[in-house]
Amino acid sequence: MALLVLKFGGTSVADIDRIRNVAAHVKREADAGHAIAVVVSAMAGQTNQLVAWVEQAWGYKERQKNNGGPASAHYDEREYDAVVSSGEQVTSGLLALVLQSLGIKARSWQGWQIPLHTDSAHRAARITGVDIEELKARMLTGEVAVIAGFQGIAPGNRISTLGRGGSDTSAVALASALAAERCDIYTDVDGVYTTDPRVVPKAHRLDKISYEEMLEMASQGAKVLQTRSVELAMQRGVRVLVRSSFDPPDLGGLPTDAAEQLGTLVCHEDEIVEQNVVSGIAYARDEAKVTLLKVADKPGVAAQVFGPLANANINVDMIVQNVSEDGRHTDLTFTVQSADLDRALEVLRNAKQSIGYLDLRGSTDIAKVSAIGVGMRSHAGVAAQMFSALAEKGINIEAISTSEIKISVLIDAAYAELAVRTLHSLFGLDSR
Ligand code: ADP
Ligand code: ASP
Ligand code: MG
Repeated sequence: MALLVLKFGGTSVADIDRIRNVAAHVKREADAGHAIAVVVSAMAGQTNQLVAWVEQAWGYKERQKNNGGPASAHYDEREYDAVVSSGEQVTSGLLALVLQSLGIKARSWQGWQIPLHTDSAHRAARITGVDIEELKARMLTGEVAVIAGFQGIAPGNRISTLGRGGSDTSAVALASALAAERCDIYTDVDGVYTTDPRVVPKAHRLDKISYEEMLEMASQGAKVLQTRSVELAMQRGVRVLVRSSFDPPDLGGLPTDAAEQLGTLVCHEDEIVEQNVVSGIAYARDEAKVTLLKVADKPGVAAQVFGPLANANINVDMIVQNVSEDGRHTDLTFTVQSADLDRALEVLRNAKQSIGYLDLRGSTDIAKVSAIGVGMRSHAGVAAQMFSALAEKGINIEAISTSEIKISVLIDAAYAELAVRTLHSLFGLDSR
């Protein structure tokens, strides 16, 4: 008997038939004698709907159109969490019911019932601890624990959520706390590909990917796993298997312990034998560009710009400061998540006096494309190859950032797919 955590994403629980399919996967593992925790997401599209309702209720976007509504883009994020966490409550109850209808002992658990504790950074809270005693004891009696992903409980007894895609992190945190054998992330593709298979049909599935590469892939936009889930898996050494919920529940006759052949295992680098220089290409379209024109070119200005943004919990990604033409002023450009753009602009408008700039602009017509691979540590020239391939296609680079195993470029959103395809071929990743 093993202890397993299985997580099913939004498309996998999109309606009652799909939930029945999930139950069939759970039944297979239960019949094999394993103790099981299942983490579920909300039905596909549900969380977007809930977010849209929150924004409509607050009404800031309406104000921008017709001047009615609240003056601030900031709303009470505790109420956002109360609303947006509810999609997972529905699917956890539904899956528990379907399992019970099949004669399997099961009950649903909300984040607060476990409890799964988080800090108070509502909307993107971090898990601070999971009390698994009762949960585990009941699992060991053969009761399947069906857990609402994405949610926890913050100080002050308030519901919190873990950031978009956060059910992956719920699953990994539970797998770690339960010392589970493996954490299976069931989704709508059968593993981690060299790039998003919806954009590049020639992408191929990787049998294994290292934690470090997966971390870069996720943080540069490959939404197949939430970045924090990979961070946590790496820290705690949780074996994560990304696999498809659309595989037949009987696995076409394959024994359950052959599961690792069916997906992509995220594991330590030294478990991987073959290694390309570049393992994957990621892209993100959900970033926005902010430009401050004519900022004073003097010590301390960067702190005056980025300090207030940090205080408002807004993460800044790429930063470019232009060379000053007159020696006194410069332009400063950086990127934030699109969902944070209105709040970032508001923070900077409020700080205009202390920063001192001529004009402020925000735009969402940008994309970030990244090449990732641990092989870059020992290979020079990857950046040069990448820049000239993009130049040949007439794609202009607005900003660059690098790490030891990654090169990212910021480009016009209209060229995102062309850039991804170009780099995928350039680095020999197209399936033959
Ligand atoms: P879930 O709802 O199951 O959490 P997500 O939509 O969050 O699923 O993540 C799965 C999606 O991630 C896939 O449908 C695919 O389009 C996208 N994706 C992006 N990059 C990759 C990649 N490198 N490998 C696999 N899938 C990727
Ligand atoms: N339902 C949440 C979201 O759409 C969490 C998740 O699916 O992981 O972001
Ligand atoms: Mg997801």
